[in-house]
Amino acid sequence: MRFEPAKRPLTGETLESLATALAGIGEKPFRATQILDWVYKKRARSWDDMTNLPKALRSWLEAEFTLMPASLVLNRHSADVTDKLLLELEDKSLIETVIIRAPQDGVGPDHSRKTICISTQVGCAMGCVFCASGLAGLKRDMSAGEIVAQLLQVCYAEDLRTPRARSELASFDNIVVMGMGEPLANYDALIRALTIVNAPWGLGFGARRITVSTSGLVPKIIMLADEPIGFRLAISLHGATDEVRSQIMPVNKAFPLAKLIPAVKTFTERHGRMVTLEFILIADVNDSLDQARRLRDIALDLHAHVNLIPYNTVEGLPWKRPEVAKQVAFAEVLDRSGVSVTLRREKGHDIAAACGQLRLKTEREREAAPFH
Ligand code: SAH
Ligand code: SF4
Repeated sequence: MRFEPAKRPLTGETLESLATALAGIGEKPFRATQILDWVYKKRARSWDDMTNLPKALRSWLEAEFTLMPASLVLNRHSADVTDKLLLELEDKSLIETVIIRAPQDGVGPDHSRKTICISTQVGCAMGCVFCASGLAGLKRDMSAGEIVAQLLQVCYAEDLRTPRARSELASFDNIVVMGMGEPLANYDALIRALTIVNAPWGLGFGARRITVSTSGLVPKIIMLADEPIGFRLAISLHGATDEVRSQIMPVNKAFPLAKLIPAVKTFTERHGRMVTLEFILIADVNDSLDQARRLRDIALDLHAHVNLIPYNTVEGLPWKRPEVAKQVAFAEVLDRSGVSVTLRREKGHDIAAACGQLRLKTEREREAAPFH
């Protein structure tokens, strides 16, 4: 399921693909470098900003490409740690991109570390029973240009707030692909987008600061392990046995733990980096001490970090987070055995939880206050 826009988004072009398009009209390859420099380094907001390009070339670009395929509808800057950009794509689909600030001691809020949570699909087809993103199914895949556009929109917003250091192209510290959608189900667009984000002619953003989160599409995890660029990987585990995992994540029927765990091992071996296991704690579903012990064994086997996330209630769904004492007891089982584990206790501050609930809110808001 794709959306075919009339013009290609410029944010989906690589240096090579743009140079090829330019060669078609007899332009030299250095023009591609100039154009992408305007997009990512100088943050041009209109074709006319690109003053070192001949006017005829600017007109050609305008006829062929969309400069920005996601327009900002709303920037909800909050006193809390998360900001949300509500973006509208060309087919009027709405997506949210989240900025999560981790305040640092001794500096103002504008200098906090920023993690950007991006979406890869409009909706999601995976059907995890606890998740808001999948409630209405999958509307469509996002294009590489749309995925990259989210980050440029964050740059525009952040450039206004904090003048960035000259050496820093991006106005943030980490990217997590944990928004709407299953990133590995939109593999080609994801890799193309992250290649653009990583490239020196793009945002020049380090691969080690980019985390891709997946519900566990095993063949795609193995493909990701073979990619030349070493992104970080997070697995949404949420169940430490097939019985529990299959109850809440239909993907486990196709790719049960006996397939998932070796795939994660392959990834770790190729990249030599710790994988993160995300585990949302849902009361009376996966929060027993037996699950904790089994999760501990998996984490030790994989040398993985475990991120325990108390479930964030979704309106219309019956699931709840366990009592704090139960969360702590669960975490202690892992901690006592030397597993590297984090448990977020403040409501709404966890990155995965903050990003994991986008779709429902966006759609409900649209119903409450239609933009069109
Ligand atoms: N599809 C990918 C990435 C997007 S979901 C994946 O599943 O990994 C990002 C994270 O948010 C996942 O770990 C997901 O399980 C989690 N999540 C979804 N709904 C949540 C909720 N209500 N509370 C807390 N975390 C949630
Ligand atoms: Fe899709 Fe991830 Fe939500 Fe599952 S948890 S429905 S894979 S977005």
